[in-house]
Amino acid sequence: MAVKKALVCGAGGFIGSHMVKRLRAEGYWVRGADLKNPEFCPSEANDFVVADLRLRESWEAILDEGMDEVYQFAADMGGAGYVFSGANDAAIMHNSAMINLQMADFAVLRKVKKIFYSSSACMYPAYNQEDPDNPKCAEETAYPASPDSEYGWEKLFSERLYLAFNRNFGVNVRIARFHNIFGIEGTWQGGKEKAPAALIRKVAEQSDGGEIEVWGDGLQTRSFLYIDECIEAVRRLMESSFPGPVNIGSEEMVTINHMAEMIMKIAGKKLSIKHISGPLGVRGRNSDNKLLRRELGWEPSQSLFDGLSKTYPWIYGQMQAETK
Ligand code: NAD
Repeated sequence: MAVKKALVCGAGGFIGSHMVKRLRAEGYWVRGADLKNPEFCPSEANDFVVADLRLRESWEAILDEGMDEVYQFAADMGGAGYVFSGANDAAIMHNSAMINLQMADFAVLRKVKKIFYSSSACMYPAYNQEDPDNPKCAEETAYPASPDSEYGWEKLFSERLYLAFNRNFGVNVRIARFHNIFGIEGTWQGGKEKAPAALIRKVAEQSDGGEIEVWGDGLQTRSFLYIDECIEAVRRLMESSFPGPVNIGSEEMVTINHMAEMIMKIAGKKLSIKHISGPLGVRGRNSDNKLLRRELGWEPSQSLFDGLSKTYPWIYGQMQAETK
């Protein structure tokens, strides 16, 4: 059988670099493309191209005719501190939309066989996520649209872009809405890190009896999915005939305070929490996996505690290495 060829866009980032590893382990020939090399270990891609995917000439160079699969993870993104400050709104919308417009166009020009697009739970309407105990994030609740960030609006636009290319040009797409993916080899400092990594870093920095800062009252709810299960779900979606959009997330909803307590337990420390003002996003959000279960006959099963238990020592190790 011929070796399958895949292009991973955003292969220098968190999810993209994990996907490269997975595809290589499955025997694919993989090209990775990104503005930068992966931060934490060399890419396992057969070919890695440093390229700006907003530009046509980059796509001309990286996308060969008849590529079997393209995984589109490239986006201008970050955690709440980056997405909700307002200062990055124009860049987030412009940069990510440019990447997706080029991708869609080149999928037709180069006859790509199948594309995966990574959307986000941030596209769900804010009005359905005001009750922290009962957020509504089933796929069919997306409209009337009212995301709480420009990041979410761009994701919604790009979902529609790929679906329009599917209808008008037959581009074979798979779309997932990720809900807070975390794990080893993810950003843990610098302003683009997400809540699990930020809290792990804060806990790891303190000695027993110390104090950590949490944005808001910490009663906002979220669910978090460990990276391995995200990759598994994406591969299953790609192998299925279901285009999506479908949620890829965990249904284990926790408050941010509860997650902080879990991390303290893993670290073996008792710390107090100081609540400070900061960018927050919606009050509650949880994955709704009914559609995922129905279409893929599968759902993630790992607990948040287990995922945090793997991530804590990795971030701790990074911090130790930095102080040497
Ligand atoms: P990431 O920031 O680690 O990876 C994105 C990569 O895209 C980065 O390496 C970045 O350099 C690259 N990129 C940005 N602009 C580019 C450009 N112009 N040309 C080439 N490369 C460019 O993010 P991630 O966590 O790996 O997320 C991957 C995808 O999944 C993104 O589209 C993101 O919006 C989506 N997503 C992630 C989460 C999550 O919790 N991690 C949740 C929802 C959706």
